[in-house]
Amino acid sequence: MDTRQRQRQQQVVARAGAAFRSGRSRPLGFRLRQLRALERLVTEKEAEIAAALQADLHKSQCNAYSYEILGVLAEIALALDKLPTWVAPQSVPKNIMTLTDEVYIHREPLGVVLVIGAWNYPFVLVMQPLIGAIAAGNAVVIKPSEISENTAKLLAELIPQYIDKDLYPVINGGVMETTELLKERFDHIFYTGSSQVGKIVMEAAAKHLTPVTLELGGKSPCYIDKDCNLDIACRRVAWGKYLNCGQTCIAPDYILCDQSIQNKVVENIKKTLKEFHGEDIKKSPDYERIANKHHFKRLVTLLEGQKIAYGGETDEATCFIAPTILTDVSPESKIMKEEIFGPLLPIVTIKSADEAIEFINQREKPLALYLFSNDKKLIKRMISETSSGGVTANDVIMHYTLPDLPFGGVGNSGMGNYHGRHSFETFSHRRSCLIKSLMMESVNKIRYPPNSQRKLDWAKFFFLKRFNKGRLGLIALALLGAILAAVIKVAYS
Ligand code: NAD
Repeated sequence: MDTRQRQRQQQVVARAGAAFRSGRSRPLGFRLRQLRALERLVTEKEAEIAAALQADLHKSQCNAYSYEILGVLAEIALALDKLPTWVAPQSVPKNIMTLTDEVYIHREPLGVVLVIGAWNYPFVLVMQPLIGAIAAGNAVVIKPSEISENTAKLLAELIPQYIDKDLYPVINGGVMETTELLKERFDHIFYTGSSQVGKIVMEAAAKHLTPVTLELGGKSPCYIDKDCNLDIACRRVAWGKYLNCGQTCIAPDYILCDQSIQNKVVENIKKTLKEFHGEDIKKSPDYERIANKHHFKRLVTLLEGQKIAYGGETDEATCFIAPTILTDVSPESKIMKEEIFGPLLPIVTIKSADEAIEFINQREKPLALYLFSNDKKLIKRMISETSSGGVTANDVIMHYTLPDLPFGGVGNSGMGNYHGRHSFETFSHRRSCLIKSLMMESVNKIRYPPNSQRKLDWAKFFFLKRFNKGRLGLIALALLGAILAAVIKVAYS
């Protein structure tokens, strides 16, 4: 990266800062107009978006629509509908000293936000945080992943055509450009990608005390209980595992089950894959390819020394890896040490639900946890005795689709969350506001010197006493306030 490129990047960030300080991103009407323009971008350019996703990941038009475009449109529709309520000041209960004052939480924008996207869902992973950041009134510097280069190029071309060019610039480039960008001072960084790079992002952010949201990955376990409808469980697992060729951050990474059901699990998944894709999966329009040769080779090495119960075919020229199931996988093998992020499904056998809990708890906290069982009590117990970013029981992936559920990781799988209102909150500062009256000064005398035991006793009485929130409680509070004012006036005048 030469000096001119570096300066150009710095200028783009500086322009976004100046545009934010102009105040134009703040009014509700402006935010709604930008969101409507984004909605137009998606609907008018749907074919181009789908073509870029096809070129990057071999996504069919239907898959591009279902797994990328639909989610973006739904998120915009929700924000357009709810934003007036989200931005409204939120009143909070008062205490006796602030009875006649205004007390509320005001959500204010953070400033200039950096959104760094990942390549596996390259459209939705940039657009969804962008929607939240615009809704909250910020300027946003957008950095799509260089690995999904067609989508990255398209985003850089389309976004300035529809929304404010200075407030929402797109910067494309690889590790070097991102590294340079991270030297700039932002007010928030929203990063999606691997946990290793997440640490680099957090370190760079720390230099400026910039808060971060890290949407990372990890190995999401899938426990299948003996007492469970295996036919349905395996169909759902097969869908979520091989979706996008296994390159989904919340894909079930591996299966934990009892030895006695391992073969049935293999048979059911095999049967389901034929049902989904026919006899020749290479010809299925619904089966994607690995993003690039680097990831292809990484995945092929994970197969070494494993017992392949199904699949295993690979084709480097087209980055094709067939849906693959591995049985009797050792917890010590390489494939169990890193996030797979591809269509390889190891089965590790365990003897009981307790052993599964122990297995999960001995490892990094995953982004998602999947549990299949007819026994709801067992599901609840497993939820309460483990930790993960999110959980879906008796299905996979689906918690992601509910905008009222905060989506994000915990521990090594990330920090912070988004989707729906949670995105708006992530990109807002909750500012505490108290607007006091300049009247009622006698009440305030309790806190002014000279201090005395009597003042302290009154303070204890009023601050430590809890009033219920019902009408009677409020009347009592008002009465006490009046008494306090009168007493203090007499006592300290
Ligand atoms: P990636 O290679 O596209 O990297 C993501 C971004 O980080 C890119 O924009 C890239 O330019 C930047 N980057 C890469 N290396 C960097 C470095 N050394 N310094 C600075 N910036 C750098 O994506 P990836 O990391 O391969 O993504 C896959 C990972 O992302 C998986 O672990 C997956 O689970 C996770 N993921 C998480 C979510 C989520 O929502 N939690 C979604 C998708 C992917």
